[in-house]
Amino acid sequence: MRVTRPALARRTAGFTESVIREMTRLNARHGGINLAQGFPDFAAPAEIKEAAKRAIDADVNQYAITWGAPSLRRAIAASYRELYAMDVDPETMLTVTCGATEAMISTLLAIVDPGDEVVVLEPFYENYGPDTAICGAVPVYVPLRPPDNVFDPDELRRAFSPRTKAIVVNTPNNPTGRVLRRDELAIIADLCREHGAIAITDEIYEHIRYDGEHVPIATLPGMAERTVTISGASKTFSVTGWRVGWIVAPPELTAGIRKVHDFVTVGAPAPLQEAVAVALALGPSYRAKLAREYRERRDILHAALVVAGFSPSLPEGAYYMLCDISRFGFPDDTAFAHWLVREAGVAGVPGSSFYSRRELGRHLIRFTFCKTEALLREAGERLRRTEELARAVTR
Ligand code: GLN
Repeated sequence: MRVTRPALARRTAGFTESVIREMTRLNARHGGINLAQGFPDFAAPAEIKEAAKRAIDADVNQYAITWGAPSLRRAIAASYRELYAMDVDPETMLTVTCGATEAMISTLLAIVDPGDEVVVLEPFYENYGPDTAICGAVPVYVPLRPPDNVFDPDELRRAFSPRTKAIVVNTPNNPTGRVLRRDELAIIADLCREHGAIAITDEIYEHIRYDGEHVPIATLPGMAERTVTISGASKTFSVTGWRVGWIVAPPELTAGIRKVHDFVTVGAPAPLQEAVAVALALGPSYRAKLAREYRERRDILHAALVVAGFSPSLPEGAYYMLCDISRFGFPDDTAFAHWLVREAGVAGVPGSSFYSRRELGRHLIRFTFCKTEALLREAGERLRRTEELARAVTR
């Protein structure tokens, strides 16, 4: 007799499809403006592109050292020293990965056992849930409370238990735009030290900031030895498709992370690593220009959304805006987002996809503003009709 068994592993059962990429596909079908998926539609700096071409011409075509090309690791270490006075040994504390996405899953696979608890602040970037599921870990969610998206310290404290292995922190934050303050990070750090837990911090938007300073939690007292800092080139150099990210961690953690990384991907694209090493030397004037241009984009979209009746939040960092959609009279954010891309031709991401407790995000939609000014203005024009279009449906 033939035994029938499910074809798919149980670990995939809880996964939902990426809502961000689903919205991108829907947008393509309706020929809309994609303010759903956060990827820039403008050029990367000439210097990084030239450096990539030079590396390919020089036949840097084979595997780099699995944990990263020495030139890139040296450049990353130098930049952490310069920016945050962090002591990062490129030989023992750095792993170059295929983007921050691989950095997060390789880190979790390396440090989390099945059944361990991982604290995740919500709303969260949609990967963190599936990442914990792949590891068999139990995510414990703590909300960032509206309107200011701050966590309640007591609630956070209650989320830590003897089984807590790690907390995932993301600052500047996707999707809220929060830049966590030093005092907030200090509360997280205290809990990590108290419980022997590791802070895994996704700092991919570290240079896209409008207010507040970026404080790597690794720089807080006693945290260097219990923090895994993740960042990458995607956002800073507008190269999300290059897949070059990195992990800074103490040597013992790095040793484990490198093994997972090696077996999962072998390494990040070799010529692009050389290019990112060059780009990291662009320095403060490049970073200031990046932040200034993003502020302009933020302000354009914010003003347009206010006019269109969306009640957008004003982010302190990263390139997303959460907007309240209550006044349009839709009961459900997903229905609203699908309707909006079809009728108005602008795609956003339904807010519920950033929450484990979906109801917390039912009144929200996320738009990204990592787009050219012309596209943002065109999106604003299209969204002006939202209220009028909505009235016809919900009346
Ligand atoms: N980080 C981007 C976002 O949140 C892109 C997500 C993705 O498609 N991987 O929109």
